[in-house]
Amino acid sequence: MVRFLLRFGLAVATLIALPSLSSAASQLKKAEFSSPSADSVQLVLGLTAAATPKVFTLDSPDRVVIDLPATRLASGAKMPAAAGPVKSVRSAMQDRRTLRIVLELNKALDPIVQSRGNQLVISLGKAPAAMPTPPAAPVPVRAAHAPADEGRDIIVAIDAGHGGQDPGASGAHGTREKDVVLAIARALARRIDAEPGMKAVLTRDADRFIPLRERIGVARKARADIFVSVHADAIRNRDVSGSSVYVLADRGASSEAARWLAEQENAADLKGGVSLGDKSDELAAVLMDVSQSASIGSSVVAAERVLTQLDRVGTIRKTEVQRAAFVVLKSPDIPSMLVETAYISNPAEERKLRTASHQQAIAEAIFNGVREHFRTSPPDGSLFARQRDSRRGAAPIMAGSATP
Ligand SMILES: [Zn+2]
Repeated sequence: MVRFLLRFGLAVATLIALPSLSSAASQLKKAEFSSPSADSVQLVLGLTAAATPKVFTLDSPDRVVIDLPATRLASGAKMPAAAGPVKSVRSAMQDRRTLRIVLELNKALDPIVQSRGNQLVISLGKAPAAMPTPPAAPVPVRAAHAPADEGRDIIVAIDAGHGGQDPGASGAHGTREKDVVLAIARALARRIDAEPGMKAVLTRDADRFIPLRERIGVARKARADIFVSVHADAIRNRDVSGSSVYVLADRGASSEAARWLAEQENAADLKGGVSLGDKSDELAAVLMDVSQSASIGSSVVAAERVLTQLDRVGTIRKTEVQRAAFVVLKSPDIPSMLVETAYISNPAEERKLRTASHQQAIAEAIFNGVREHFRTSPPDGSLFARQRDSRRGAAPIMAGSATP
């Protein structure tokens, strides 16, 4: 969609030679409806300078959104009252530069945008009448459907294992798991935050102890799309090395569901909008299981991506995603994985784990795996989803132009 909107903007700018927008801000002086009928109306926008609009539709409820970049509402200017199929009109600055006008409709209607000089006409419900006396020919442009209002960030909860009085495993040279996993978690968070459309939340960003359930709580509070716990454990056999990735074993799920149910506030709202509060215990348990199973399914897919990426930066201990009943993996509604980045008990791996470059490489591998997963399966409403839809891309239909 982003690409489409850019193309849309460029096409309009090219065809009717609008002046550059970056130089002068425009003001919206006038917004009024004309020729309303039961199922059609035109919105006429008067601006102090030409603006290249981005126009798209949304449903549930049906809306037409008009974004006017580098534009603000002139003082005293007001949105018109409802008319024709338009139930309400509101406007707000979308960011500091973009004025957004939202028309709420009583049915789905495709807008057609005409632009000439400093005036924009958005026609809903019927073909626009030709605009009077052309200095330049009118250019009707049909808007496309947009899948979402704003592409939100995908939230990645990163859990550095252990911390505080719990040092985790230790290497022969005194390297402590809690320290190296925090370094990796921070590197991973930085990488995620640098990626448009992704945002990291750390369960801990210091050397402190956090109970396992609180770690899950941080992820839930942040409405995380995925939870990644980072570890570097020890094993008696010092020859063992390599990464492993774990997801929750199915058999751990049901008893955990019962426990979640007991905790009323946790059971109150599962992500995805299923409320358990008004359900019988039996039905709630079923819904919880369904949610948990779906989460485990997504976890496996994401974990496989991460495992593949880890294979590129070092050895992996097992080529399959492992199953275990780790408590931190037990969010019923957030796909979760636990990454054993390396064995701190292996002297060579301990040495590597201490270096910033290897910490960075592991973080990069986890990041690549997670990003790949979300590129393939973006959550609804995310920027990634918008980008996927724009790749599938409905090309804009330009009236009077043979090529889209
Ligand atoms: Zn650990």
